[in-house]
Amino acid sequence: MGTAASAFLNPISAELDGVGPTKPTAEALSRRARQRRQILGMVGVSYVIDAIVLLIYSQAGTIPAAIGPAYAACGLFTVACNIVLSEAGFTERFKDHYFVTPQAIVGMTILLAFTYIAPQVGVMFLCSLFVVFNFSSLCSTPRQMAVVWTTMAFGVAGLFLLTDKPISMPHGSYLERVATMSVFVLTVGRCMFLGMFSNSMRQSLYKSGLKLKEAYRRIEELAELDELTGSYNRRCIMRMLDEEISRARRLKTPCSIALIDLDWFKRINDAYGHPTGDEVLRTFAITMFANIRSIDRFGRYGGEEFLLVLPDTHTEGAVHNLERLREIIADLDWSAFSPGMQVTISAGVTTLKPDETSDTFLARADSALYIAKARGRDRIASA
Ligand code: GH3
Ligand code: MG
Ligand code: MG
Repeated sequence: MGTAASAFLNPISAELDGVGPTKPTAEALSRRARQRRQILGMVGVSYVIDAIVLLIYSQAGTIPAAIGPAYAACGLFTVACNIVLSEAGFTERFKDHYFVTPQAIVGMTILLAFTYIAPQVGVMFLCSLFVVFNFSSLCSTPRQMAVVWTTMAFGVAGLFLLTDKPISMPHGSYLERVATMSVFVLTVGRCMFLGMFSNSMRQSLYKSGLKLKEAYRRIEELAELDELTGSYNRRCIMRMLDEEISRARRLKTPCSIALIDLDWFKRINDAYGHPTGDEVLRTFAITMFANIRSIDRFGRYGGEEFLLVLPDTHTEGAVHNLERLREIIADLDWSAFSPGMQVTISAGVTTLKPDETSDTFLARADSALYIAKARGRDRIASA
């Protein structure tokens, strides 16, 4: 199915492409005009095919030779009018910019009129009514469908009840059989084609849903991450800390935290430049992620200060873990960034007390960090 089909059938995907209720851009408008051209082209081709079948009937002597060209002329005239209105931007004033309802009503009027004019081949026009109705039902509101159906019902009632025309399905001669067979084959083919349209709509809707879901997930993820280091941002890590405190209380398990600060980071910036300082922060964060448990939570608390939440961990375990992490950071080959560079961290570790708030919990970790710094840095202190 082409782009015309998917936009015609799938307003959601069209909106994702910028063709929504908000004012469409010039690019979107030209895309819509192109899609209308494609659909009107298909309708025009359909009229021509029907006219060929009518010519076969006229060859068989069932109807006058003028019926086929007259039918094609009427159909193509309406298509041409639609193209003019579409190209002039007139149809853009309407929500139904494909003009499905007016097209369906005009199409049905032509079919009913020709059933009246040439009832000898009435079966062909009545079969086409199904296709028109099917086509309009793909992209219409229930109200539009009610209008189309009522018009069709009045037309058919007028034809059947107010006239005594014998509406026929010619199959006397071989040529008539060929034409009538073509009518059925074409009608079934068109219904099948429209079925494929609606199937593509379902698939397209499903894909749009997946795209939306993925975009939403990505937005949520980005809203929680620190841009520079890829670790959780302060808002997120604070929320996680509150969650872990609640969980520890509920399950009566210990919960430790560590406030980690890079030592003499101002000097690193001054000596090697701010961009290198950024790289150091990134490398530090990646290294931390690679060396903590999946249940641990690690986020940027601010500047070159990070918070590590260690659920289900006593003070001894936390201090042991932080010592391990401190050694890993100190042993990294920082000289790859710049010869002679050395990066170390200090951390203040503490374990949750009963009835303690997150503020006092953090304040105790901060005091421990202050002690670690005061004792000479590159070390872990616990409160
Ligand atoms: P201490 O060992 O006492 O922590 O010393 P310090 O130099 O690390 O501490 P101080 O608080 O004086 O300096 C922190 C520096 O971290 C200052 C600031 O410019 C730098 N910094 C904060 N955020 C960023 C960042 O995103 N990128 C870079 N490159 N530097 C940052
Ligand atoms: Mg520092
Ligand atoms: Mg600091």
